[in-house]
Amino acid sequence: MHFQPEFAFEGQPVRVRFAPGVRRCTGEEIARLGCSRALVLSTPPQADAAMEMAQEIGDAAVGVFTKAAMHTPVAITEEAVQHAREVRADCIVAIGGGSTTGLGKAIALRTDLPQIVIPTTYAGSEVTAILGQTEKGEKTTIIDPKVRPEVVLYDAELVRSLPVAMTVTSALNAMAHAVEGLYAQNRNPVSTLMAIEGLEAFAASLPDVMRNPHDLEARGATLYGAWLCGTVLGQVGMALHHKLCHTLGGSFDLPHAETHAVVLAHAIGFNARAAGSELEPVSRIFGGDRPGQALYDFAKSLGAPLGLREIGMKEVDLPRAADLAAAKPYWNPQPVSRDEILKLLEAAWAGDPPAF
Ligand code: NAD
Repeated sequence: MHFQPEFAFEGQPVRVRFAPGVRRCTGEEIARLGCSRALVLSTPPQADAAMEMAQEIGDAAVGVFTKAAMHTPVAITEEAVQHAREVRADCIVAIGGGSTTGLGKAIALRTDLPQIVIPTTYAGSEVTAILGQTEKGEKTTIIDPKVRPEVVLYDAELVRSLPVAMTVTSALNAMAHAVEGLYAQNRNPVSTLMAIEGLEAFAASLPDVMRNPHDLEARGATLYGAWLCGTVLGQVGMALHHKLCHTLGGSFDLPHAETHAVVLAHAIGFNARAAGSELEPVSRIFGGDRPGQALYDFAKSLGAPLGLREIGMKEVDLPRAADLAAAKPYWNPQPVSRDEILKLLEAAWAGDPPAF
């Protein structure tokens, strides 16, 4: 039982459908929203998927915009908003990972258009009211219910094309939302249940996906995990792990999912000293009695990158990263000191097991 004597819970309205092939119901979902003029979004590499989707939707697709990019650059959003106005779009269909979802949310922020998201990674952005945007090299994050998508269609057929390396890092990115949700200051029994179920879904299905990336049932279970973990991110506050990843991504340009994949075990090892009982499900699900080490071993077993040095971090930048991460810390169960953060980052850079 995950009862807490005191908590607040807020239900967040979103219509979610799961089924292999459910993307073919997009036309039905557009009509259900009372809309008839969809603008389809994707990144450049997923333009084919966007074109197929537009064909699938038929007359209710009035435009295709395929310039979505990582970290939602405002200049691209403005171009997309203009396009949406020109074609008189009355809804958005975003097919892709967090970058495409981000563009849909940024358009919704400026136009109030309803969104249907068809995720093709496990990032989880499709079920949050969070939007990060970049302008002139600076990333700002807002939380606004206006940007939360109205409909999410989880189609396991679409994640079969996700390369194995991205599958692993994107899954660890999703799992990070759930793990930090377990000790969040504003967690509630429902967020805890979802976090545990999400972690169990990934623990059970990822080894099967590694054996056969086209295993539709296992892919479906990974999407189920992504939905649950993303919902936790949308409900409760994140702590040191997300702060470190935002610092490393924002100031050192490290890739999003890979950074999460490397840092997770280290941040959790650090916090396990203060949140041992909250993190007990992590040890139970991934084995052993130290949650940081358990996550390190799980990531290693999947062939995830283990060191920040493998993903573009320079060793000379570690002290500055520690300064930045310790300067304006998010709330964290374990008090944060600059020297301990540096120790954590040194182990993460080298790919060593967690230092704490
Ligand atoms: P992404 O959307 O940038 O995708 C990475 C690349 O993989 C892209 O080129 C994409 O087209 C391609 N791709 C995606 N799915 C594929 C598939 N099934 N097959 C083949 N190629 C595929 O990566 P991401 O990790 O999903 O998203 C990262 C972005 O999302 C970051 O900007 C991050 O800040 C944001 N994000 C936001 C939230 C939130 O709640 N606001 C949550 C998580 C992530």
